[in-house]
Amino acid sequence: MSNQALLTVTDLEKHFEQSKGAFSGPSSPIRAVDGVSFEIGKSTTLGLVGESGSGKTTTGRLITRLLEPSAGSIVFDGADITELSRTELRPIRRKMQIVFQDPFASLDPRMKVRQIVEEPVRYSTDVGSNERRSRVMETLEVVGLNPDHAERYPHEFSGGQRQRIGIARALIVRPDLLILDEPVSALDVSIQAQIVNLLEDLQEEFGLSYLLIAHDLSVVRQICDEVAVMYLGKIVEFGTRDEVYESPTHPYTRALLSAVPISNPRLRGTRDRIVLKGDIPDPANKPSGCDFHTRCYMAADVCRSDPPELEDSTSEGHLVSCHFAETIVKENNQDTKGKDK
Ligand code: SF4
Repeated sequence: MSNQALLTVTDLEKHFEQSKGAFSGPSSPIRAVDGVSFEIGKSTTLGLVGESGSGKTTTGRLITRLLEPSAGSIVFDGADITELSRTELRPIRRKMQIVFQDPFASLDPRMKVRQIVEEPVRYSTDVGSNERRSRVMETLEVVGLNPDHAERYPHEFSGGQRQRIGIARALIVRPDLLILDEPVSALDVSIQAQIVNLLEDLQEEFGLSYLLIAHDLSVVRQICDEVAVMYLGKIVEFGTRDEVYESPTHPYTRALLSAVPISNPRLRGTRDRIVLKGDIPDPANKPSGCDFHTRCYMAADVCRSDPPELEDSTSEGHLVSCHFAETIVKENNQDTKGKDK
């Protein structure tokens, strides 16, 4: 993990109580996030990946305190923000902004773009109206929008332009961390590349840190420095981008990566597709032993009884939660040697 942490999340948990029917017995809480720890360094990007229901979006909302954690701690820029009041949180929230998945749903259709982008500055700072207006124009330009269109409404823009408006709205308060919640998944592929390029440029220009929540592993590969793979509320693999993509070690990561199309035509057909069986289990009723054993192609008896720990598989910080990590690391090393010959 990085030396200079902007964000440190430790043993974060979120349980949702289920409503009980009048005649039913007690029900278990949904453990949506179940002991998640990671750091994000300054000017770096961590990708949080996994299927729908893995807890990645809930984790993003816990960090910004849009949801209250059930346990664990969140330290941002050296300050523990886990239990701060709404008033105490206000200056911190400016430094930590979210960009949402659906650019249309996240923008108020009755507001002009100028008002939408200006809103966070208006309510969280004492910046005067002239300064606000000039910041809006400047920020629209930074994200590649024409400042002359500031008096238009969101429906007058394309999907990619609307996501640029969402990014401008996050950027205008000059944050240190952006939580990007599936920022391109609602966009056409050609537009996705433009937004990804924009995010890369903004990171370089403003030294931003990103938490990128995504299920698209190609996008994560392009912009992330480190990757955490989540399954059923837990991180099951964590490493640098190269560690996770070149030597995926958890069987779940291997299955996810095996489904990513290979762009290099010479490498097509060199990798077997691992098809995941069934759906992600009910987080209120988790399997015994390893959470992944009901879908794992390598599951053995020990997996059904003993939960594996998230441990360093290579002594270099590549963390994996699997009883057979050592065997898979050896396989990966043999594969690498084979390719080098
Ligand atoms: Fe699969 Fe067992 Fe490893 Fe879990 S511990 S990922 S079930 S091999």
